[in-house]
Amino acid sequence: MKISTEILNMKPYKPGKPIEETRRELGLSHVIKLASNENPLGPSPRALAAISRSLSDLHRYPDPSCFELRKAVAAFYQVPENCLVFGNGSDELVDLLARIFLEPGESILTSEKAFVAYQLSAQASRARVLQVPLDAQKCFDLNAMAEVFKKQATKPRLIFIANPNNPTGTYVAGEYVEALLSVVSPYPDTLVVFDEAYVEFVRAKDYTPAHTYLKRFKNVVVLRTMSKIFGLAGLRLGVMMAQPEVVDIVHRVRKPFNVNSLAQVAAVAALEDRDYIKQVQQITWQGLDYFYSELKRLGLPYLPSQGNFVLFDTLREALKVYQAMLKQGVIVRPVDNYGFARELRLSVGQPEENTRAIKALEIALNEVPLLK
Ligand SMILES: *Cc1c(COP(=O)(O)O)cnc(C)c1O
Repeated sequence: MKISTEILNMKPYKPGKPIEETRRELGLSHVIKLASNENPLGPSPRALAAISRSLSDLHRYPDPSCFELRKAVAAFYQVPENCLVFGNGSDELVDLLARIFLEPGESILTSEKAFVAYQLSAQASRARVLQVPLDAQKCFDLNAMAEVFKKQATKPRLIFIANPNNPTGTYVAGEYVEALLSVVSPYPDTLVVFDEAYVEFVRAKDYTPAHTYLKRFKNVVVLRTMSKIFGLAGLRLGVMMAQPEVVDIVHRVRKPFNVNSLAQVAAVAALEDRDYIKQVQQITWQGLDYFYSELKRLGLPYLPSQGNFVLFDTLREALKVYQAMLKQGVIVRPVDNYGFARELRLSVGQPEENTRAIKALEIALNEVPLLK
């Protein structure tokens, strides 16, 4: 069979191990999963109520224009309605951008150890992937990315910046973002895509959400998701904010019913539930601070995180620590696919899940020898 090398080079995305699978394979009854940065509170009660109310309409096709959702999101983020388009998760929006803007042989520019979705979508479009190393603090190095951009005879069509990034939890401050945008803005055929899946968890004071650049810089695209703080990962809903010209093109290529009806009503309700959002922030920040103090106690280095997870150094073979925790019914996330051989990613859960994870980690650390 004839298959392009870009496609053959794609490594399938490895999601967090499902709870049911772990129960089955290890014969464990009480399994917790802190591996996919999911919302530990469960969906907002208001979202659940909205879903119940609309179940009897499931024989109907969803609203292809997402009318109510568009109004709610525009009001929530204070952006014009014609700057919004929705996707079946933000991963579909990444894929649409790749399909629309990349021709075979063209390139994207991103960082090493960036969220892997950008690379996969680019490869599926037969495009090349230019990656710049992270800086010494394990942050996206936007200066280095600007230099690489300047050097390309044929400019990359898409620049992907996860801010904050997954799996590192690191972020880039507004001043660096503006500097990069100034370099790229004379090139209207290049879009700078900011994936801000964790924006609501950011505590850093010098962070600037990218939708505030939409007016000044025409080539800015912002992606948001309902999968994290809004607690609707299973329903699949992502938001794109961009210039109306970009939005119009995405509308042409997307499938008319790409956002299902339950996702539409649930998202409207979740956006209105400000108490729930505050509660998720509180539980996340408390959980992160707890992880930091426990990791310090255990002598394990970690990266301060602007997300709802922390990347830490086990000082051991991470896959062995992962297995030793799994045996105890605690699923965390190996990140060897990003080239992190000693590190694991741990999502914030409910307080009792966090305590259990740390206990399991402590036992695992005693079972697995330190690397020299
Ligand atoms: C979790 C996550 C998303 C969300 O993806 P969806 O497809 O919307 O569920 C997007 N970007 C990053 C960096 C993430 O970690």
